[in-house]
Amino acid sequence: MDKGAILAEVRSVVNDLFRGLTLPRNPQLWQSLPTEKQEQFQSSPEFVEIEKELAALRGRRDADPSSRRRCSRELYAKRRELTHKEVRKWQKAQSHQPSGKDSSSPCYRRSIFNRVRFMMPERNRLASSLFKPDTLRSTTSLSALRGMVTLCEKEAEVEFRPGLEPEKYWRHVYSCYKRSHDDFVELCFLCSKWIFGETQWSNHCQTHLNCPETLPVQCDPLVYGGALVTAGYCVFCMADPSLPSEKRLHQYLERGPWKDHV
Ligand SMILES: [Zn+2]
Ligand SMILES: [Zn+2]
Ligand SMILES: [Zn+2]
Repeated sequence: MDKGAILAEVRSVVNDLFRGLTLPRNPQLWQSLPTEKQEQFQSSPEFVEIEKELAALRGRRDADPSSRRRCSRELYAKRRELTHKEVRKWQKAQSHQPSGKDSSSPCYRRSIFNRVRFMMPERNRLASSLFKPDTLRSTTSLSALRGMVTLCEKEAEVEFRPGLEPEKYWRHVYSCYKRSHDDFVELCFLCSKWIFGETQWSNHCQTHLNCPETLPVQCDPLVYGGALVTAGYCVFCMADPSLPSEKRLHQYLERGPWKDHV
């Protein structure tokens, strides 16, 4: 094999690696129309016209079934295309800068990425640095490039969960850590900190309850890359002031028990 062939082969392997990388440009990009715009859109003349034709078609029992099917297929395709165009229109008008430093502001579609990015330091940094306009040799560009190389060399998407270093087998580390302490110890999955002592834990939960902005917006337990990103919580218990704070902020580590409770 000549050198050129080897190079070509190597290069295609690298390309494949890069092709597999996906980085959301705007994690808050609308995937469908927000309710208000949906309503406007559905009362637009074009949309109403298609709906009317569809309804008429459904009412026409006499027509030949195969031509009726073809007609409705065409109408559905037309409607899909119209919807798609409308969503694209709004996506383009949408701001490309995720609002706020950590993009935690309310949005219609909170992507999973926003919830897990803290577990993937390179991706987390790249998600913002990759879209900063800068020269190729600037610090930003170089660190972005280093970040991409690091990502390619990694074997697992999530190496460990903060608070449960150094293994990604979070459950093992979690339970081992708990077992190795005679006294009460609990990991707060909201701030990735170990809290020692029952009273301290209760107080810690209370601090979260006192600052609603530290409470999760989505309360389902989320596992990503083999690690528990966020524990599950119960919104109803959370909002019940008659319960002790550690009950209000009870962390469900598994989906089953969480579902059973909620
Ligand atoms: Zn162990
Ligand atoms: Zn905490
Ligand atoms: Zn509950």
